[in-house]
Amino acid sequence: MPKVVLPPLADTHCHLDYILRNDKHPMGEEGVCPEKVLERALAEGVQFVVNPSVTPKRFNEVITLAERFEHVYAGVAVHPTDVEDIQNMPDWLAQVEALLTHPKVIAVGETGLDYYWDTTHQDLQKCCFKSLLELGKKYDLPVIVHDREAHEDVAAIIDQVPGVRGIMHCFSGDETFARRMIDKGFYISFAGNVTFKKAEDLQAAATHLPLEWILIETDSPFLTPVPHRGKPNEPARVRHVAEKIAELRGISYDEVARATTENARRVYGLN
Ligand SMILES: [Zn+2]
Ligand SMILES: [Zn+2]
Repeated sequence: MPKVVLPPLADTHCHLDYILRNDKHPMGEEGVCPEKVLERALAEGVQFVVNPSVTPKRFNEVITLAERFEHVYAGVAVHPTDVEDIQNMPDWLAQVEALLTHPKVIAVGETGLDYYWDTTHQDLQKCCFKSLLELGKKYDLPVIVHDREAHEDVAAIIDQVPGVRGIMHCFSGDETFARRMIDKGFYISFAGNVTFKKAEDLQAAATHLPLEWILIETDSPFLTPVPHRGKPNEPARVRHVAEKIAELRGISYDEVARATTENARRVYGLN
């Protein structure tokens, strides 16, 4: 039988370190085994995954996974809902910077603003975000941006760091906002929520944006796509995001898979 060659996929944003901390395996097994999570991803054609970190407390865990597995890359930064962790850590930015030259660190991420989960640390979030954008620019690394109900402030802070580039991860805006971000040099990454029935703005964006600026991700273990909604998520399920975008655009799964993987290699500098 001829060997079936699967179209390539890339999960540009997953929290493998979180997946491995779950008591139950995302696919229902007892115990969590990173080899199996990655095996299932590879079986769907996933060529690499990017595991951003969210707090200096977990840099070690994320870097260790990237060192251990060929197909796993890392990002280092502080997530907006974890900024409390750096309040009494004067060297946090130096810790991030020290890791940016590690061979498996390919992004500053994730960082950004989250006004949905955290309304009490907005100034600290902004200050942290801006410092990390500056590091991304300094090292010419893409910055993975988390933006939840903070579109205008995110755009304004990015404008303060001209020349920075990156990714709007788990994009949650509309087509107009997406085009503004593309003009600033930011790729638009769609996650499982694009498969949700009520995600009309998101689906319109996924339908009309230029394909060369689109990425796909799972943000696993969160945001499980349809048809597995309600269950935990893992990188193998990124194919459902590609399938949905293909359906929306009326093009083949193959085309979406290839284009988004090529885009992911371009933005992360993986050739
Ligand atoms: Zn995020
Ligand atoms: Zn994330």
